[in-house]
Amino acid sequence: MAKPKIVLIIMDGLGDRPVKALGGKTPLEAASTPNLDLLAKEGMCGLMLPVYHTAIPTSEEGHLSLFGYSTEKYPIRRGYFTAMGSGIKIKKGDVCLRGNFGTVDEKMNVIDRRAGRIDRTQPLIEAINGMVIDGVKFLVKYAGGHRVGIVMRGKNLSPNISDGDPHYGKLQKGLRKIVPLDKTKKAKFTASVLNKFLEKSHLILKDHPFNKKRESKGLLSANYILVRGASSYIKLPSFKKRYGFSACCIAGKVLYQQIGKALGMKLIKVKGADGSPKTNLKGKFSALRRNIKKYDFVFLHIKATDSLAEDGDCLGKKKFIEKVDRYMRFLLDLNNTLIIVTADHSTCCQLRRHCSAPIPILIYGADKDKVSCFSEKACKNGKLGTFCQLKLMSKVVCFYKKLR
Ligand SMILES: [Zn+2]
Repeated sequence: MAKPKIVLIIMDGLGDRPVKALGGKTPLEAASTPNLDLLAKEGMCGLMLPVYHTAIPTSEEGHLSLFGYSTEKYPIRRGYFTAMGSGIKIKKGDVCLRGNFGTVDEKMNVIDRRAGRIDRTQPLIEAINGMVIDGVKFLVKYAGGHRVGIVMRGKNLSPNISDGDPHYGKLQKGLRKIVPLDKTKKAKFTASVLNKFLEKSHLILKDHPFNKKRESKGLLSANYILVRGASSYIKLPSFKKRYGFSACCIAGKVLYQQIGKALGMKLIKVKGADGSPKTNLKGKFSALRRNIKKYDFVFLHIKATDSLAEDGDCLGKKKFIEKVDRYMRFLLDLNNTLIIVTADHSTCCQLRRHCSAPIPILIYGADKDKVSCFSEKACKNGKLGTFCQLKLMSKVVCFYKKLR
C-alpha cells in the first residue's frame, strides 16, 4: 500500500461566538458546508484550547503550538517572521520587530494602525533605514503593504520589551511607550534606544514630502511606526527531524510562509494566493493535490476567515467559509490520507479580534464518531474531546501510525 499522507488545513480564526445577525449562530454554524460536514461525519471531531502567553492568542503562537513547538521553549515572536520575510539576514544578538506604518494625531493618539492600508512606502523606509542610536543600528525593510521588518543590531540588546502598537485602536487609542519587561540592564537599554528611534522617525516621517503629498490629497499620513513582537534569533528544530514527515507549505501571507520556512517546510508558490477573500483558492487546492504526491505532509493556510472577522463582517466570514467548503470536495477522493481541518485560534466577529474561544477541529481518515456536522457546538461532543493545541501533532502521529 502507498505511504499514508497528511493534509492540514488551517482556516485562520475559524472559530467564533454566536452572533445576533446570524440568528444566534456562529459563522461556521450558519454556513452551509456539505463537504466539511461529510468529513466531520466520516471522521472525528473535537475542540482545541489555544496556547497564548499574551493578552489574546496570536497567529504565530497558535501555529507554532499546532505544530507542537512550545513557545515557552522557543519564544519566537512576530518580529522574527516579519524581519525574515522582508529579506533581512538576521544575526545572533539582533532584536527583530514587526512594524506598521500608522497614523497619529498631534496628541499622539493612534488614528489608524495602518495609515489607511498604505503601500509603496519605499521613500519613507529610505528616510529612516540605517539610523544609528547609542551604537545600535536600525535596519528597516519593506514587508508588504503597511508592514516593515525592523532589526536592531548592536551590543547588549534584549527582546524582552513591550509592544508600542496599541493593537486594537478603537479600544486603546493612546500610543504606548516601549517598556522593559524584566529588570535587566539589556531590556532597559533596548526599550530606551527603541523609544528614541521611534521619536526620531516620527519627526522625520511627519515632515516627509511623501506624507505632505498624501495629506494634500486627503490621505492619512504614515507618520509613526507601531512596533510589536520583539524577538531574537532562535533556530527551530526542523519539522522533518521532529516527526519524520517531509512537508510543504501553501500560504498566501508572508507570516505563514515564514512559519513554514522556519520549520524547514518547502514553500509552494501559488499565483493569485494573497490571503484576501478573493485569494486563488482553486490554485491553492490544486497545488495541494499536486504536492501531496511528493510530500508526506501538506500545510495549507487560508487567511480570510480571520481578517473578515477582524473587520466585524460576520456575513462575509460565513460566505467565505461556504466558498472554502466548495473546494473541500477536491479532497474527498484522497486515499489513505489524514485530513485535518482546524484553526490557529478563534476570531470573534463581535469583538473584531482574536479570542480565547475553543477551536473546532475535525480529523478525517482514521476513525469515526457520532458528530454529523462541523461546528463549534457539534465538535463539543466529538471523540477527540477538548485538548490543548500543543497536543495536536502527537495525536496526528498516533493516527498516522494506525494507517500504516
Ligand atoms: Zn491567526
